[in-house]
Amino acid sequence: MSTRWQTNLALAAAAAMAAGCGASRMTPASENNLATPPTSANLTTTTNASTAMTDADWKKKLTPEQYRVLRQKGTERPFTGAYWNSHAAGTYRCAGCGEELFTSETKYDTECGWPSFYAPMSSNAVATADDRSHFMERTEVLCSKCGGHLGHVFEDGPKPTGLRYCINSASLTFEAKKDEKK
Ligand code: FE
Repeated sequence: MSTRWQTNLALAAAAAMAAGCGASRMTPASENNLATPPTSANLTTTTNASTAMTDADWKKKLTPEQYRVLRQKGTERPFTGAYWNSHAAGTYRCAGCGEELFTSETKYDTECGWPSFYAPMSSNAVATADDRSHFMERTEVLCSKCGGHLGHVFEDGPKPTGLRYCINSASLTFEAKKDEKK
């Protein structure tokens, strides 16, 4: 094994850790079993106030960590985010634009250190894009409204979808169910 290959292998392993456990090649969301699969086309066809935000606007609106993840496609360190171990009932919204993205009803426990869901709130809540960074072929998950980077989706999730939406806590805000607010 050449030194260069070993270096590539080490980098890929490091990136896999950063991206979440079980990172693997997967097919685009358009081939999964969602009724109306989200596509990257959502990003170019959606027009609203949020998409008019400049980079300076986002910097002003978001915390440094939210900006790094949402606008620069960063990944928070595992087991450090606000929601990876949360079991509260409610709705997870985009921290950038407030769009409803996930519900606690599809959230499940993993040992990844990031909040994981087996489905988005609706098939058009999120968009996906091919991500070939870090020597891997992955599917990036983005907010379909503002284009913010949320995380990645893998094909090692539980039933009924078999998908794992591995999402950064920094990309989300949580709204507790009314009867849970006390
Ligand atoms: Fe958004």
